[in-house]
Amino acid sequence: VVDHGQPTRAVETTCAYCGVGCSFRAELQGDRVVRMVPSKSGGANEGHSCVKGRFAWGYATHADRVTVPMVRDSIHEPWREVGWDEAIAFAAARLSAIRDRHGPGALGGITSSRCTNEEVFAVQKMIRGAFGSNNVDTCARVCHSPTGYGLKQAFGTSAGTQDFRSVDRADVVLVIGANPTDGHPVFASRLKRRLRAGAKLIVVDPRRIDLVRMPHVAASHHLALRPGTNVAVINAMAHVIVTEGLVDEAFVAARCEADSFAAWRAFVAEPENAPEALEAATGEMEADLRAAARLYATGGNAAIYYGLGVTEHSQGSSTVMAMANLAMATGNIGRPGVGVNPLRGQNNVQGACDMGSFPHELSGYRHVSDPDARALFERAWGVAIDPEPGLRIPNMFAAALDGSFRGFFVQGEDLAQSDPDTRHVEAALAAMDCVIVQDLFLNETARFAHVFLPGTSFLEKDGTFTNAERRINRVRPAMAPVPGLTEWETVCRLATALGYPMHYDDAAAIMDEIAALTPTFAGVSFARLDAAGSVQWPCTAERPDGTPIMHADGFVRGRGHFVVTRYVPTEERANRRFPLILTTGRILSQYNVGAQTRRTANILWHAEDVLEIHPHDAEERGIADGDTVSLSSRKGATSLRARISDRMPQGVVYTTFHYPVTGANVVTTENSDWATNCPEYKVTAVQVTRANRP
Ligand code: SF4
Repeated sequence: VVDHGQPTRAVETTCAYCGVGCSFRAELQGDRVVRMVPSKSGGANEGHSCVKGRFAWGYATHADRVTVPMVRDSIHEPWREVGWDEAIAFAAARLSAIRDRHGPGALGGITSSRCTNEEVFAVQKMIRGAFGSNNVDTCARVCHSPTGYGLKQAFGTSAGTQDFRSVDRADVVLVIGANPTDGHPVFASRLKRRLRAGAKLIVVDPRRIDLVRMPHVAASHHLALRPGTNVAVINAMAHVIVTEGLVDEAFVAARCEADSFAAWRAFVAEPENAPEALEAATGEMEADLRAAARLYATGGNAAIYYGLGVTEHSQGSSTVMAMANLAMATGNIGRPGVGVNPLRGQNNVQGACDMGSFPHELSGYRHVSDPDARALFERAWGVAIDPEPGLRIPNMFAAALDGSFRGFFVQGEDLAQSDPDTRHVEAALAAMDCVIVQDLFLNETARFAHVFLPGTSFLEKDGTFTNAERRINRVRPAMAPVPGLTEWETVCRLATALGYPMHYDDAAAIMDEIAALTPTFAGVSFARLDAAGSVQWPCTAERPDGTPIMHADGFVRGRGHFVVTRYVPTEERANRRFPLILTTGRILSQYNVGAQTRRTANILWHAEDVLEIHPHDAEERGIADGDTVSLSSRKGATSLRARISDRMPQGVVYTTFHYPVTGANVVTTENSDWATNCPEYKVTAVQVTRANRP
């Protein structure tokens, strides 16, 4: 235990790690954080926290942090430290030259879910206003873009339906493709309290995650499906519900479309969706699946919570819509204790999506082809907005390789480590004429950058994060921005240097513009947030206190829409050369690619990524616990230590991706969700061989 001394002042702010969005009091001695104390008044955490929010803040003052802008003419040259004016001028000159020669379509950028709503909004405005294209995407592309797509199709808006408190009223909880104990610990504690009080649990996951194994919190049903078969399992549950007469006919008649429901009902009743027909694809689980479906439909309030094990598949969007079908068919939507709830990975992934970070959508999920929405922004911003969607991240990479995409602004994401098929990403970045990275550290992506603009940690930011339950929380600066400029000020300067003046007096003014242009944020302001603590959107004149539970009186789109979600097996199959399936995830003490948590004492809990492997698969390969093994796929190879674990089913291996030295994404493939291009991180055919013993 380190004694950091006594605080002399405190600032209320929000954790910058996961989508739970815990509120903290940062206690400081001068500009030095002494401790982070979880706030009892925090709407999402009510005084609770985990080891990341509580202890992993030291990265903000780590010696690796870059605090001075840097430029270089080519990625083969060393960096040159420069002042802000020179860095902005250098970046603007390069981007202007590309735009003049190749047109605005050769420029684009991505926003970061680690940044505030205000910072994200500024970047997408710069890309649309100053770059002149809709080539803006966000790191949600590689995590929850299927959530955005799927929930919008079914319900009319791209957001989870419930507040976290809602789980206190659930009688049945279906957790699919999520490991809340590690990924969303404070929500997991709340969920476990509810389970200990008697709620039933259904876990759909290849691994025996902690929820399955914990004493007094045993899963009533664990459907240990094969990776890639989520849609088949949910369709089979729907088949049981429809064929056994468990549909909530009154709810469907009152709230949903008759035509789409009839088509869906006929589809799921087909024999191909029967549990016994799907057993070969999904695993041996027929009896359990039937019982789980009956429990979900008849056990009282039934709530679905899901994570990246749903979205990061070739059928990620289909799975989201299949779950929405299940919830509507059983009337489990629109009141406490029910709903379809994404457990968002990053602190502001909901907000980054809300802020117009997608190439086809302006803030508030209005399509760029909508003339009324476009006109609103064009009047406010004084620019013409292209009615055609721009490029998604994978399309930007493809265009870079064919020479048509050349200038790229990267806000706070390490694409070269976090995106799939690392070698392809590196080749695309290396092909560009101007890569601008705005970040805290010289990350892997910065190896391909020409301009490095130092960013700010959450302790220096003024703004808002929006958590997984649509709760807009204030982020308040505990110290002045270390590089001298806030991130939104940097973006405004770059836009202005490109000939598109952008100026705000402060972050509150950016939120005022967001509220003026985004109907669901119409009632949001820093003053309201400071008075209320937080508010869940939609926050409007009619709902000034926000909306904890969506779709209570009717769906945002009117009537609920059922989508036929036919199961299509992924193209990624195990074969003789690559006989195992790799799936990936996180652990409690570390966060994503580890850029922050690896620079804190949390490395004491997790010093390396390991490969979990079933005892039988290990024995077959002569692998002992702790051996270094080679992990290879058709895309590449890496090595790491093996951990023999009965949490794994036979034929499936698992690793985390917190360390660049492991580089798990060297082996992942280019396969992606059919609707959104979200990468299929969760299914990679691999071989594992012993590497270090004779
Ligand atoms: Fe809360 Fe998530 Fe931060 Fe942990 S990482 S303190 S659960 S917001």
